[in-house]
Amino acid sequence: MNDRRLEWLAEGTEVFGRELAALSDAALDAPSLLPGWTRRHLLAHVGHNAHALMRLLHWARTGEETPMYKDAAARDREIAEGAALAPSALRDLVITSAAELRQAIDSLPERAWSAEVVTAQGRTVPATEVPWMRCREVWVHAVDLDGGVSFDRFPAAMLDELIDDITTTLQRRGQPPALLVEPTDRTRRWRVDIDGQPPATGRVRAPAKQHPGSAAPAVPELGRWL
Ligand code: ZN
Repeated sequence: MNDRRLEWLAEGTEVFGRELAALSDAALDAPSLLPGWTRRHLLAHVGHNAHALMRLLHWARTGEETPMYKDAAARDREIAEGAALAPSALRDLVITSAAELRQAIDSLPERAWSAEVVTAQGRTVPATEVPWMRCREVWVHAVDLDGGVSFDRFPAAMLDELIDDITTTLQRRGQPPALLVEPTDRTRRWRVDIDGQPPATGRVRAPAKQHPGSAAPAVPELGRWL
């Protein structure tokens, strides 16, 4: 297993847990940064995501096909039900599931890491992708919790891997717009080439969130990534 990813996962889980602990029960009812989702929805999703990834590890270990979710409707229902839990139960769902997933990762037999499983997006990947998938979840959703964590807080090498992941996904799908990603604090550049389109570029400095009325940066509108 890639140790660096396991370290990022541990750190991201800790950051997410700290953010959650800092929120009062009443604050859980407030919106997250994800459209249409309160913090409660986000927490239910993060908790159930850990269970879903444990199903992939079970699949890798046993060969029994246990997908992340039965279907999209089942996933949405689970989130809606989780969001309605009492605050203490919701907190417990997030913390306990994260610990269980970590235990499942740490106890996966070496040979199972190369076993192939299928993600919720329908992609066949080796089980080694599972810790990375969780890494993305805890870090990006720590930002979505809207408690003050920003992408500046991420380990720099993990941000690179995240940009790799996003641009590779967009390129594989041929999803417009064409992009040229050129961070000001790195020498690397990333591209998404779409036939016949000049690449959109944009420049934005933290904070990512714009105050109403401030000049909007020239950053292109992006579609869904996951
Ligand atoms: Zn998610």
